[in-house]
Amino acid sequence: MKLHEYQAKELMSQYEVPIPEGRVAYFPYDAWMVAMELGFPVVLKAQVLTGGRGKAGGVKIAKTADEARDIAQELFGKTLVTAQTGPQGVKVRKLLVEKASSIKRELYFSITIDRTIGKPVVIASKRGGMSIEEVSELYPEDIIKIPIDPAVGFLPYQIRRLKYDLDLVEQEKEISRIVSNLYKLFIDKDCSLLEMNPLVVTDTNHLVALDAKIEIDDNAIFRRKEIAKMRDLTEYDPDELEARFAGLNFIKLDGDIGCMVNGAGLAMATMDVIKFAGGNPANFLDVGGEATPDTIAKGFEIITRDPKVKAIFINIFGGIVRCDKVANGILQALKTVEVKVPIVVRLTGMNKEEGMEMLKNSGLAFSVAQDIKEAAHMITQITKPKKEENQTTKETNKKEK
Ligand code: ADP
Ligand code: MG
Repeated sequence: MKLHEYQAKELMSQYEVPIPEGRVAYFPYDAWMVAMELGFPVVLKAQVLTGGRGKAGGVKIAKTADEARDIAQELFGKTLVTAQTGPQGVKVRKLLVEKASSIKRELYFSITIDRTIGKPVVIASKRGGMSIEEVSELYPEDIIKIPIDPAVGFLPYQIRRLKYDLDLVEQEKEISRIVSNLYKLFIDKDCSLLEMNPLVVTDTNHLVALDAKIEIDDNAIFRRKEIAKMRDLTEYDPDELEARFAGLNFIKLDGDIGCMVNGAGLAMATMDVIKFAGGNPANFLDVGGEATPDTIAKGFEIITRDPKVKAIFINIFGGIVRCDKVANGILQALKTVEVKVPIVVRLTGMNKEEGMEMLKNSGLAFSVAQDIKEAAHMITQITKPKKEENQTTKETNKKEK
C-alpha cells in the first residue's frame, strides 16, 4: 500500500525526521489560507500516488497567497501524466502546501528489501532529485548500497560510511539520527519502501526531507491498524475496489480477452499463454481457491463491464474445489449475469469429465477446451482482428479492377 507524501512526512516527523512545515489543501481557498499562515515562498505539491510529479507539472512554487490560490485552482482536477502513471494519468484531488526550502544540495536516500539477499538495504546517492533509475544508468559509481542484517540493525560503522560518502561530515549528528530513526520506522511499520528523494542540505547546512515516499507491505496491513486508516480509496480504480470488496483479486489491463482464473500463479500463466498465442489479456482476475457461484458471477459482472472485452477465457484448476462444482458455479452465475461475448472454458483436476459434460450439455454457447494451449488458441481465434480476410478481399478487388 502506497502512502501519500503528506502521510509519509507525518510518519517521518513522528520519528523526528525534519520535514518542511506544511498542510494539506482540498480547495483553492485552503491553499490561500495555508500559504498565508506559512509565509512565502510556498511550494504546492500534487498528492497523487506516483513519483515524477515535478517533471509533470505537479510541483509549483508561489510567492504570494493569490498566486498560491491560482496555482491550486489550476492543479485541482488536473490529470497528471508522469513516467509511472501510464497515458491515462491520475487526477489531483489534494495538494500539500509547504514552506519552500532553499536548497544547497539534493541527496537520495532509501531503504527497501533486497529480495535476492533477503535483507533490508539502504541505497543512497549524492545525486538526489533525479530518478534513481536514471542515476544508476548514468552514474552507477555514485550509488551506495548497504545491506543491513535485521538481527543487529543499522550499525554505527555503516552510518559513518554514509556520512563520508554523502559528504555530510558537518551534519554528522543529524544524519546519524535521521537514518537510524528511519530504519526504526521502516521496521516498526512493516515498510517495503521508504524513500527521500531529495533529502536536502539547506543553505543553513541542515538536513530536510523535501520529498517522502513510503510503501507498506500489504501482507502486514492487518497488524498496522493506524496505517490501514490512511488508505485513500479515491486513488483506486473503482472496478478493482469492487473486486477487492468481493474477495477477488482483479487488475485491469488494456487487452480484449477477459480472464477468470483460480489462483494467482495460474492467472499469471494464463496471461502468458494468451500472449504467446498472440492475444492480449483485458485483466488479471484470481477468483480465489473456492470459485463459488457468487464470486464467479461478480467476476463476470466486472469483466463484461469493460467494453473492450471480446471474449472470456475461464481457466480453472479443480484442486481444493472439484470441477463439477465449478461448472455448476459457472452455470448458476450465468443465470444472474448476462454475458454476450463468447466464453472458452478449460477445466482440469478433480472430476474434470463431469464438469466438462455439464458445460457441454447446458445448452449455452461455451467452447470447451481440452488443455490450456488449445484454449488459448481458441480464444485468440475469436479475438484476433480478421486481417488476413480483409487482405484477401482487397487483393481480389485489385485483381478484378
Ligand atoms: P517528485 O519526486 O514527485 O517530482 P518532489 O517532492 O521530489 O516530487 O519535488 C520535485 C522537486 O521540487 C524537488 O527535487 C525539489 O527540487 C523541489 N521541491 C520540492 N519540495 C520543495 C520544497 N518544500 N522547497 C523547495 N523545493 C522543493
Ligand atoms: Mg522526489
